[in-house]
Amino acid sequence: MTRIFALAIAALVAPSWVVAAPCPGNPQALGTERVIEIDAKTTPRVGRKQFPSTLPLGAKELVLTFDDGPWPGTTSKVLDALKSECVRATFFLLGRNAAAHPQLARRALSERHTVGHHSYSHPILSRMSLAKAEGEIDRGIAADEFAVYGERRTKPATPFFRFPGFAANETLLARMSERGLVVFGADVWAGDWVQMGPEQELRLILRRIEQVGRGIVLFHDTKGQTAQMIPAFLRELKKRGYRIVHVVPK
Ligand SMILES: [Zn+2]
Repeated sequence: MTRIFALAIAALVAPSWVVAAPCPGNPQALGTERVIEIDAKTTPRVGRKQFPSTLPLGAKELVLTFDDGPWPGTTSKVLDALKSECVRATFFLLGRNAAAHPQLARRALSERHTVGHHSYSHPILSRMSLAKAEGEIDRGIAADEFAVYGERRTKPATPFFRFPGFAANETLLARMSERGLVVFGADVWAGDWVQMGPEQELRLILRRIEQVGRGIVLFHDTKGQTAQMIPAFLRELKKRGYRIVHVVPK
């Protein structure tokens, strides 16, 4: 009885801490350490490469994010690797890709990843009028929401947005806050938009992660070199004692 009571108290005290469930078929899995819930009120903008602060993460805690998908071939490889390690990530979808490959977008959701938004066609939004930029953002959100949930809406189920090329301006950032959309930057990346071999990308991202110690990691699930290195990357994180945090809307 006392033990049950203690467990109940522990659950009440730390509601955002989820004890990692065993990973079927992979006892050595990296797994997902815990889940944090965020909203635009408490964390309107996250990622130290662009903003003054980032997600509330402890030492060696990482949030994995993938941009620009879904893309045939590469996204499914990334999803397979995450699944076999029981790791949950966040995918910032491009509306036109979600519209073209809705089954992949739905797979990301069904495997309990977070689905955020990244515009319709990846323009540099900071150079457009507010109306035009917001039109692009809304077109992207509506395409993603239709692909994933079957509902063409501009108020998304997960109000997370990443600007293409991180190109925001004060007007756009203020508008995102008004709309309750959390703007994601990043804390670390390998720069996988530059062509390199998967081994080189692996060495580079691990070195940079060791430098920052924690944070939001940015990849592109449209890149073959990234899709190829993710399995080794996840195994290496486990070996080095990193833990994965999954971020969801409040
Ligand atoms: Zn992008």
